[in-house]
Amino acid sequence: MLWSGWGDPGKAVGLDPAVRELLTEALGVTPPTGEPAGFGDVRLPAAELSPFVLASLRSIVGAEHVRTDADARIRHTRGKSTSDLLKMRMGDGSDAPDAVLLPGSHHEIAEVLRVCTAEKVAVVPFGGGTSVVGGVTAQRDVFAGVVALDLRRLDKLVSVDEESMLAELQPGLRGPQAEELLNGHGLTLGHFPQSWEYATLGGFAAARSSGQASAGYGRFDDMVEGLTVATPVGDLELGRAPRSAAGPDLRHLVLGSEGAFGVITSMRLRVRRLPARRRWDAWRFPSFQVGRDAMRALAQERRLPAVLRLSDETETMIGGGSGCLMVIGYEQGEPPTFPGADHFGAEPAERWAEGRYAGPYLRDALIAAGATVETLETATHWSGLPRLYEAVKLALEASLGRAIVMCHVSHVYETGASLYFTVATAAGDDPLARWDAAKIKANEAIGLAGGTISHHHGVGRDHRAAYAAEIGPVGVTVMRAIKKSLDPVGILNPGVLIP
Ligand SMILES: Cc1cc2nc3c(=O)[nH]c(=O)nc-3n(C[C@H](O)[C@H](O)[C@H](O)COP(=O)(O)OP(=O)(O)OC[C@H]3O[C@@H](n4cnc5c(N)ncnc54)[C@H](O)[C@@H]3O)c2cc1C
Repeated sequence: MLWSGWGDPGKAVGLDPAVRELLTEALGVTPPTGEPAGFGDVRLPAAELSPFVLASLRSIVGAEHVRTDADARIRHTRGKSTSDLLKMRMGDGSDAPDAVLLPGSHHEIAEVLRVCTAEKVAVVPFGGGTSVVGGVTAQRDVFAGVVALDLRRLDKLVSVDEESMLAELQPGLRGPQAEELLNGHGLTLGHFPQSWEYATLGGFAAARSSGQASAGYGRFDDMVEGLTVATPVGDLELGRAPRSAAGPDLRHLVLGSEGAFGVITSMRLRVRRLPARRRWDAWRFPSFQVGRDAMRALAQERRLPAVLRLSDETETMIGGGSGCLMVIGYEQGEPPTFPGADHFGAEPAERWAEGRYAGPYLRDALIAAGATVETLETATHWSGLPRLYEAVKLALEASLGRAIVMCHVSHVYETGASLYFTVATAAGDDPLARWDAAKIKANEAIGLAGGTISHHHGVGRDHRAAYAAEIGPVGVTVMRAIKKSLDPVGILNPGVLIP
């Protein structure tokens, strides 16, 4: 993974001259004056771990699995939000961990947590590091150091129970690795977020991820039947039946816990048969509202295909079309039809499917050209969706001035849907401050319009204040109490999630 951008540097893309012209004319983008920092220019804080702590950690995971070199520290400094990338491009490595640990088993993780609790060392569970909400950026504060716990060595398909359609998988598996292992058994998870190539199963569970095929396969948290979790006070083994009335479902303490309550070391996931074919179809709707109504009807009549996505007018226009483009991916039977909309057939949807993992590379190219491109997302019930859409769009436009704000709906339910906004604007003199100000306004608008602060990116550090407002003072007390009982010294991902 590129340390200051996305993915495989060999897949980097350039910008079309027409796009550059559009950036200048529509947004006033000017090329950045200086060069971005090189790898060797990144300023790292002095490492703080004591020789005793380092020796203890080496004895647990093996000396070769305790990395203190600059390469490992830089690559675990932050996640992949645009602000994270901008800071890296400025050579700001101030959030780097002191060491990166690569444990190989549940037992080793439990031991690491024991030592780090005793020595007051902060531990950041680290999957693919694709968080866009500051989820892997620990607050050093009072701690005697920070270690990133990189789970990549926990990468096994442990077992498959085809009778129950369950697979036990380890958390460090990245999306493609997990699919390849399951496809070997004729199975699939059907979880394909845009970050799929680099994000891990543990991260999907810990941040309650939602993939592009969520209409047919559900969100990742719908797939989790059981979990094994190492916490500083002992292990949690959760989920032993498809449904249970044995008290509140404690799996939901872990799903969305963003590394603050424990480390997920294994998961029992619901799997499906690999479909014979994945097919595509596309339609054009006259307006976003008409398209959303069509999506709602499909959800409420329980006729959802695997993938269902609707772009608003601006997003469709940026893609070179008009009206509102709906992309459908279906795996069985015939796709839905919509009287009153224009049928485009498979081509635009196939094009979208082919390019769907390329977006983050384009973001890098836009940042390099002097633009800021960032995303944010929310969800609410169908009846509140128009107001939420307008409120967020207006807040972003009012704060940023010249900006392109586009939106799509790609996760739908019987009772509502999510809205996913992509924003492009000129970086300006201080792109971080400019985006932070816009994001605060957007968060306020989400709160006032009754949306949730996140449908699938999570809380991290960035959404803590808005999350506190969303769950209220009693909710905050409950979250703090859970944190205290599972992680009494507070070593797990300090500064993340807990208000
Ligand atoms: C370009 C891009 C596109 C994206 N598209 C989507 C999308 O389509 N859908 C979507 O849902 N999200 C998306 N995301 C957000 C991100 O990919 C998801 O939140 C993903 O679930 C994070 O997985 P990860 O393995 O990278 O986790 P990380 O970023 O490493 O960690 C995320 C959080 O989970 C914790 N964590 C990780 N592993 C464990 C574990 N084993 N035990 C306990 N805690 C753990 C971390 O401490 C952190 O708080 C996107 C991000 C980017 C950069």
